[in-house]
Amino acid sequence: RIVYVNGTYLPENEAMISIFDRGFLMADGVYEVTSVLDGKLIDFAGHAKRLERSLNELDMPRPACLPDLLEIHRELVRLNGIEEGMIYLQITRGAPGDRDFVFPDPETCMPTVVLFTQNKPGLANSPVAKTGIKVISVADQRWARRDIKTVQLLYPSMGKMMAKAAGVDDAWMVEDGMVTEGTSNNAYIVKGNTIITRHLGNEILHGITRAAVLRFAREAQMHVEERSFSIAEAQAADEAFITSASAFVMPVVEIDGAAVGAGTPGPVAARLREIYLDESRKVAV
Ligand code: PMP
Repeated sequence: RIVYVNGTYLPENEAMISIFDRGFLMADGVYEVTSVLDGKLIDFAGHAKRLERSLNELDMPRPACLPDLLEIHRELVRLNGIEEGMIYLQITRGAPGDRDFVFPDPETCMPTVVLFTQNKPGLANSPVAKTGIKVISVADQRWARRDIKTVQLLYPSMGKMMAKAAGVDDAWMVEDGMVTEGTSNNAYIVKGNTIITRHLGNEILHGITRAAVLRFAREAQMHVEERSFSIAEAQAADEAFITSASAFVMPVVEIDGAAVGAGTPGPVAARLREIYLDESRKVAV
């Protein structure tokens, strides 16, 4: 696989990053994951915009020296012949000469920019979308700025391990009795004709797929409520699902051992998945 590091396309085993990189030492970096369908980027503009916001929130404003990211995404997809899969982009504050809590002078610091692809044939036609996934609830013990897409993924990773130990697919995180989001996705329930998902704030990542799916839902005259909900309300819902750039819309059929609705994927999630895939393919770049 060919990867991109700081201006160079090279084989993955030749790519190198300094041990002083602040991404490595301090999780001082941000990332984006964009899916690729038909060899094209899905929702790229949304991911680019959120990346810019994450950088700004961390006083790591997009340096003038940052390369044209769309161009690099496209070139890497081409070099690796990706038809269906994902592309990962990470930007860290870079590698000053030594470990220091103080940010390096923004004038001298060059960010570390890394991109790599993941080939996932059959991503859109995932058989899991037909059976749905099971989740457990876990306490949300992440930091308080989850709206910034940092590479600080230790707690979400621990959440996935708790899910694995419980024999299920993922975990929904709960804070003050309310669901925040999944370990790497936004969480939704459906009751009657209403789609319910947590309102935006610092407590959750502002999902790019979330924004698109809510827009398509409203355009299709579905009713949307942006508010928090509890695990008990989710277990009593007609349907549940998650969204993310790599899972698109994925039904959730069981929460903490209780079946949601009939315990099988529901019609609203299936319809939203279809609309999302159709519409985003049309405008892919
Ligand atoms: N929440 C969290 C915590 C995530 O990690 C992700 C995926 N990166 C999402 C939500 C979904 O965001 P998106 O639709 O932009 O992939």
